[in-house]
This record gives sequence, structure tokens and C-alpha cells, in this order.
Amino acid sequence: MCDYLIINGIECEPFLTTDHRVMLEQGDDIYMGIRYLMKVTGAKEAIIGIEGNKQDAADHLNKIKPNDIPVSVKVVPVKYPQGSEKMLITAVLGKEVPSGGLPIDVNIVTVNIATTAEMGRLLPHGRGIQERVITITGPAVKKKGNYLIPIGTPLRFVLDYVGIVDDDIAEIYMGGPMMGPAVADLDISITKGTSGILVFGSKDVNHTDKIYPCIKCGACVDACPISLNPSKLGILAKFESYDKMVTDFNLMDCFECGSCSYVCPSHIPLVQYFRLSKSRYKRKQALNQN
Ligand code: SF4
Ligand code: SF4
Repeated sequence: MCDYLIINGIECEPFLTTDHRVMLEQGDDIYMGIRYLMKVTGAKEAIIGIEGNKQDAADHLNKIKPNDIPVSVKVVPVKYPQGSEKMLITAVLGKEVPSGGLPIDVNIVTVNIATTAEMGRLLPHGRGIQERVITITGPAVKKKGNYLIPIGTPLRFVLDYVGIVDDDIAEIYMGGPMMGPAVADLDISITKGTSGILVFGSKDVNHTDKIYPCIKCGACVDACPISLNPSKLGILAKFESYDKMVTDFNLMDCFECGSCSYVCPSHIPLVQYFRLSKSRYKRKQALNQN
């Protein structure tokens, strides 16, 4: 039973602007996609969530809003990581998804706006996804912008097309700077999940940051959008106390936004610790079941 369908029009990370372009250029596709989604979910109402710094997109979608479906546009404050579905649900409806739960537990379904637009564009023609809009940016990119790129295109070809300053690539991230994984090989392909490509040259990166002990400043606790205790989790990760991290400190609720690592004055790579801890915990659980 689904009461609300929330369409997520919030960029998942800083630097990315793909959803903004989709909202400005594929408004009719978005509303067609919402019609399909309301039918399959049984939602009584649809709400498009957009951050306050994309007011032009909100105005545009309000202007072309159809009358045959109960849909509204809600502008929410600009705050990373507002694009995470639990944060968005709280910002749009004031509801909280319980720890370990899913949006459907509070009768809500959330769908990304670009996915919604693709459904509206392709389903009427019985077609599947073949290309997607990707933000290509970063200080080392010559022709920064949003590009419509066929899925399967090699990354090397994309970078040749946009041009790299001084041909100097030090780091590439697929996605945004906070959650995007680093890329080790240019011969990988663009996938339907590639939202952005960030490229940095040698002068843009600093690998000299030393990791210092935790000084218990609490900055990571203040930064965590879902009120976890990254400081305590970080200490437990070092001692490989994965069970305790999960049962007593809700490790599995961490959605790896990277806010805690970003603010840590001791440069502790907290989010990397948490990713590793989760995967080791899951592996242990799987081994125990066999
Ligand atoms: S990465 Fe850090 S700030 Fe983000 S949800 Fe996990 S613990 Fe909280
Ligand atoms: S921000 Fe870093 S130094 Fe401060 S409490 Fe958290 S882990 Fe410790």
C-alpha cells in the first residue's frame, strides 16, 4: 500500500547537475513517467522534491504541470545529502523511515527524477534505456558540461572528447566527490548508474594529509545527517568489532554520504572504514549461514 510517490529531483552529490538539466528539458517525459509510476505503485499523490537552488526547475515543472494527476512540486532547503531518500522523505513529508527500514514501511515510494523521465520517454515506445545524461567536470576537464552518452561508451573515449588540461590525470571519480568510487582503469564503460565523471590533475590533489588520532571534537557526530556516532564507529572499526558496530551503533543505517570524513580535522577516512566494516560484517554473516 503506497500513499505517496516522491520523485527525487535532488542531485545526489555536489558538482553534479544532470537532474537539473533533465528537469528543465524533459518536463513532459517526467510527468508521463509519473503517470506510469502512480499506476504501478497505487500512490494517491505524487510530490516532486527539488532543492531551493534549482528554483528555475521548480517554476518550469509547475508551469507545465498536467491536471489529470495529483502531483505537486515541493522546494526543500539546500543541504547535502538531501538527495538521500530518507532525508528527502523527512524534508518533503516530515516522516521518518525507521532504522533498518525502507520507505515503503511508511507507505512511500521514492524514484529518481532521471529514471522517471526515462520511463516517460521510453515506455510509450516499448524501448529500453540506451543512453543517459552525465555531468563531466572537475578542474582537469577542458569542456565541462552535461552530455548525453550511450551506455557502454568507454571512459577513455569520453575523456578524449571533453579534453584534459595538459593531458594530466591524477584522479578520476565515477559519480560525485563524496560517494563516487575512484577509477583505476580508463577502459571501463559508462553504465546506466554513471551520474558523473570528475577528473583532477596532479596539482589539484593533495596526498600528504596525514591521519591523526581522534581528538573527540564531535564534528563528525554533528555532521551525520542520521544521528549516528561516526567517532565511536571509527574506533570500533579499528578493533574490527563489526557485530557491535551493527547491533549497538546502527552501522547498516550509514548510507556512506561521507560528511563525517569530510569534516574530520584528523583526516580519519571514516566512510572508508564503514564501507569495509559493512562488507566484512556481511561476509561473516554469509559464512555463518553456510
Ligand atoms: S558516512 Fe558518516 S555522516 Fe554519512 S551516514 Fe555514514 S556515518 Fe553518517
Ligand atoms: S571528527 Fe574526527 S577527530 Fe572529531 S570526533 Fe569525529 S573522528 Fe574524532
